[in-house]
Amino acid sequence: MLTFELIEKHGDHEEVVYCHDKDCGLKAIIAVHNTTLGPALGGTRMWPYKSEEDALIDVLRLSRGMTYKASAAGLNLGGGKAVIIGDPKKDKSEAMFRTFGAFVNSLNGKYITAEDVGTTVHDMAYVFMETPYVTGIPVSFGGSGDPSPFTAHGTLMGIKASVKHKLNSDSLKGVRVAVQGLGNVGYHLVEYLVKEGALVSVADIDKEKVKKVCERFNLTAVDPETVIISECDVLAPCALGAVINDTTIGKLKCKIVAGGANNQLAEHRHGDQLMELGILYAPDYVINAGGLMNVFVELEGYSRERAFEKTTQVYDNLMQVFNISKAENIATYRAADRLAEKRIKSIANLRQHHHGRMARPFSTLKEMTNRQK
Ligand code: NAD
Repeated sequence: MLTFELIEKHGDHEEVVYCHDKDCGLKAIIAVHNTTLGPALGGTRMWPYKSEEDALIDVLRLSRGMTYKASAAGLNLGGGKAVIIGDPKKDKSEAMFRTFGAFVNSLNGKYITAEDVGTTVHDMAYVFMETPYVTGIPVSFGGSGDPSPFTAHGTLMGIKASVKHKLNSDSLKGVRVAVQGLGNVGYHLVEYLVKEGALVSVADIDKEKVKKVCERFNLTAVDPETVIISECDVLAPCALGAVINDTTIGKLKCKIVAGGANNQLAEHRHGDQLMELGILYAPDYVINAGGLMNVFVELEGYSRERAFEKTTQVYDNLMQVFNISKAENIATYRAADRLAEKRIKSIANLRQHHHGRMARPFSTLKEMTNRQK
């Protein structure tokens, strides 16, 4: 398919920028999907894409996803993303990330980058040498560091909202939660759940992590092969995507699916099927927005307390999604999209009728520029 046809097919993007430098080997694409709510924020993924077409499709899809995520989270941020074509193990260099930073800078704050799959805080430190429009930089540079405790805290809030909505309980005491994946997010989530008095069972393919978590919190492990279909109130996927698929969906024994992993539904229709089965699904991009909220606070001038406080909003955001789903009799993943689209539309109207009113991130951009001086 031709480039412009692909761009048209994958959403109504505002801008797609190809970044190339033969000396350092940089081949990157920046996609700005929508900046109605604020500057487009989204990480830079480095991946050995098989073709330039694959890279373009990925960046178009991911940047659109960021627009929805930021909007449903109630943040004054738009959606954007970047991809660098290359092997993160072999192809990285200082020159590559600084050159990429110069390209980001040329967009004058319309796009703000961060780390993502295949890139690290160290790479972002190089980007920061050429542009202030980068987040997720090391703490020593004024960044917010590891986002996963915030993602986990937001996920905890999402589990609370789901339990309230489905089981009509304000407490997690005695609620059986199965956590799949004990990595950065899963580990912190388990810690929060244990504090709330939930009955937590855990699974990971990494036996060392399971041992560590079980010993630390005195928990039982379940087989990673069967955790998805284990009997529980809440299944919290915190590992890979596509865990709700044709093979697992008919065997689920949970009442709620609410976890931090991205892309939990293998396909959209699985979200409709969950609704038919009477299983409440907390849409992934709404429940796992805590990390993005944390980065947003970094743009305002970082405070860890304020970032934690912000992640409690995931509770209300999910309640809104559940209410739309109930009122309009649609699956929760569709309700999340409606919530996001409605907010963008209403802010677009506001902008049209009240020229000159700037959203906060635009003043924040000024602060970001100062930060680098
Ligand atoms: P991580 O790599 O630190 O942890 C993932 C864990 O899952 C690992 O311990 C791995 O061994 C385990 N795992 C992999 N396959 C498994 C399987 N089949 N069964 C059981 N365990 C398995 O990643 P993370 O940062 O904790 O992120 C977890 C998920 O949350 C990912 O989907 C990620 O995209 C999403 N997410 C993370 C953040 C964040 O702040 N880190 C933010 C938003 C979304």
